[in-house]
Amino acid sequence: MIEKSLKELAQALAGKRISSLELTDLYLERIARLNPDINAFITVDPEKSRAAARAADARLAAGQGGPLTGIPVAQKDIFCAEGWLTTCGSKMLGNFVSPYDATVIRKLEQEAGLVSLGKTNMDEFAMGSSNETSYFGPVKNPWDRSRVPGGSSGGSAAAVAARLAPVATGTDTGGSIRQPAALCNLTGLKPTYGVVSRYGMIAFASSLDQGGPMARSAEDCALLLNAMAGFDAQDSTSLDRPAEDYAADLEKPLDGLRLGLPKEFFGEGCDPAVMAAVRAAIAEYEKLGAKTVEVSLPNSHLSVPAYYVIAPAEASSNLSRFDGVRYGYRAPDYGSLDDMYCKTRAQGFGAEVKRRILIGAYVLSHGYYDAYYLQAQRIRRLIADDFAAAFKHCDVILGPTSPSPAFKLGERAADPVQMYLSDIYTIAVNLAGLPGMSIPCGFAAGLPVGLQLIGDYFAEGRLLNVAHRYQQATEWHRRAPEGLA
Ligand code: GLN
Repeated sequence: MIEKSLKELAQALAGKRISSLELTDLYLERIARLNPDINAFITVDPEKSRAAARAADARLAAGQGGPLTGIPVAQKDIFCAEGWLTTCGSKMLGNFVSPYDATVIRKLEQEAGLVSLGKTNMDEFAMGSSNETSYFGPVKNPWDRSRVPGGSSGGSAAAVAARLAPVATGTDTGGSIRQPAALCNLTGLKPTYGVVSRYGMIAFASSLDQGGPMARSAEDCALLLNAMAGFDAQDSTSLDRPAEDYAADLEKPLDGLRLGLPKEFFGEGCDPAVMAAVRAAIAEYEKLGAKTVEVSLPNSHLSVPAYYVIAPAEASSNLSRFDGVRYGYRAPDYGSLDDMYCKTRAQGFGAEVKRRILIGAYVLSHGYYDAYYLQAQRIRRLIADDFAAAFKHCDVILGPTSPSPAFKLGERAADPVQMYLSDIYTIAVNLAGLPGMSIPCGFAAGLPVGLQLIGDYFAEGRLLNVAHRYQQATEWHRRAPEGLA
């Protein structure tokens, strides 16, 4: 059961070979047994999950189910879910039980009938690339438990990789779906900005944040995205477009596909073993009928510096709501109101979050705004223009997702710049608002390597097609970590 695709699970449920309750119990048992070591889930509520599974079984029995009804899913703890502890990986929200559902949760649970297995660990407020900034302790990579799973959606990635859930939700502000997918041998998709509603998704950098699916295959990602995407009047940046079936074109042949290889992604800075796996994937695509063209993203070296101005600027504003007054943590002892604010925020936020708030407040402050924030916004425009120019010559851009495979726990935790450089290939996509994917493409010394595919705006269907055809021709995505039976 734990290796079955969503389609196969749906068939098993429809054919009454298994009930949603049995499937849910199977995963809850694995979570109880394996999660204490992996730390992928930070909240589980078996009775809540089992009640949802029973409701799904009733829906299926009444013939009212959809393609994913009764299928379990792991939810990143950045999504508000009614009645669930929703911590965003922070002490600040350590006691916060959400009174409402994020749109993504509502769509997955209420509309599609999926069963939430619990909330997954993450970097605090999604700030990190290793899951080590979580207040609830690091997540271990199921492929090598001395290594990080990536971040910030590291709990979701580890949960799916360890077969503690068939699929999971993630969010990606600068790479947080794609990089952990790469490090854990998963398929993950960050949609075009505005395709998935941000309502109820705790805000980090609002102009960059986007939710998306994490799974073992492109086909499963397509099915989960079908259930997550769609216009939402409660998110002012949600795009009002006709609904799309992201699985419709999966089988389309790749003859004549033009794959753009940005020369900046194939230069220095990438682990040679990662590069070798990416090159082998390009050869596989050529066999499938694709042609390659060299393209250039001349401003891509500016994406990390621009991102680490814009994202903290937005975060400093978004996180001002955590003041100990309305919800979340409040310092136990304080004098004046100001003292309460200061102590609450000093005690409630971890070091990385404080660093971002300080950077953000600085770059927005009088006298520095033009030199930093405005300049970063100009770079953001140049980066988007680079992609527009590249897409005149190719259909999909290809390169590595992460410059290295999973690194050791603790290896980069003390050096923020080292950590930020984990994101060199993923961040430009968010700055431009484009869709991007990571798919498994090989191994480097036993550790998974991810291939990044970047599409033009709204090319999710095309990306999933390009990923699916590769997965039909290769076996990398089927490999599972050992020792987790
Ligand atoms: N690693 C990046 C950061 O720390 C991206 C995180 C994300 O996508 N949420 O900001």
